[in-house]
Amino acid sequence: MSPEIEHLISLQRTDREIQRLLAEIAELPRRVTVIEEKLAGTKAGLEKARGTVKADEAARRKYETAITDLRQKISKYRDQSLEVKTNDQYKALMHEIQFAEQEIGTNEDKILELMVNADARDKQVKAAEAELKAEAAEIEKEKANARERTAQDEKELAEWTAKRDASRSAVDPDLLRHYDRVSKFRGSGIAEVRDQKCSGCSVMLRPQMYNEVRGGKLLYCDSCQRILFYDPSKEAPAEQKVERTTKRRTHPKIDASQAWYYRNEYLDSGEVFLSFVNTSGTAARRIYDAASGRKLGDTLLREGAYRQAFPEDLNDSIRLNGSWSDAEQDEWGEELPSAVLDALQRDLDLARAEAASHPHKEPVSA
Ligand SMILES: [Zn+2]
Repeated sequence: MSPEIEHLISLQRTDREIQRLLAEIAELPRRVTVIEEKLAGTKAGLEKARGTVKADEAARRKYETAITDLRQKISKYRDQSLEVKTNDQYKALMHEIQFAEQEIGTNEDKILELMVNADARDKQVKAAEAELKAEAAEIEKEKANARERTAQDEKELAEWTAKRDASRSAVDPDLLRHYDRVSKFRGSGIAEVRDQKCSGCSVMLRPQMYNEVRGGKLLYCDSCQRILFYDPSKEAPAEQKVERTTKRRTHPKIDASQAWYYRNEYLDSGEVFLSFVNTSGTAARRIYDAASGRKLGDTLLREGAYRQAFPEDLNDSIRLNGSWSDAEQDEWGEELPSAVLDALQRDLDLARAEAASHPHKEPVSA
């Protein structure tokens, strides 16, 4: 392999790693923001609960003052009743006293009601205080994690950037421009030729071109424009593998409730693995970068089974073996576990080998 190709391969690897690190560094403050927002919500809840307790206390004092005033009134009426001259005047005072006593009863009821509520309110305040304390501790931990992780990522980033600069300075400027342009649109700028195909877009090479690439000539894929290279060290075992493994590859079930697909080009993301899971009337779709295993975008949910919900994704895709539950895939978070990524890449190689050995059929397309 020419040194230039080796530099480009290493450049592609460093570019991917740099992208991953930049994405991770950008993601870390967002995680802290989410917890900070939660913390602000809890704080507001606590303030509200404390405000209610204060308002209740003020109301209680108001009712108590009213009762004191009413008692004073009653005692004044009783004094007056001793001095009245007529029966009518006496009756009127008795009526006033009765009315004031009723008022006292009403105020006492209100105080009782507040006392009953007070317990529940105290509990609300205590719960909010405990929650606030836990969240404050969590946010400190998360911030420390984020700082540590960012520092580590930045250190790695500096190393990868140095590697990238070294690789770039070793490549011819015109070739580098071509690599950059294709990378920008396809997510990768260089592709290995395997089984006479461009591994970037799966399009078959013309025999003459194939021979020239094998001979070490620098050529671009006619179909995707990626720079092509051939790795002779993989040749012998790969061809044996075709013989041996095509019979062995288990074919995915057509009616499975979950499925994996490979696409050599997905929007502007380059090569991706697509995962579909049917769960109770909804289909979930996840997309991962086929080289790094990094998750691209969010999980998308649509009504219905995945074949009806995402028909456009199944065109020009290679169906793969793989069976992981929705919950399991949720746990993976932003990156495929390396065992899963390995299994998918292995199955993709087998599927391609199988397709190459039966070029007249298309047993692996969706
Ligand atoms: Zn291609």
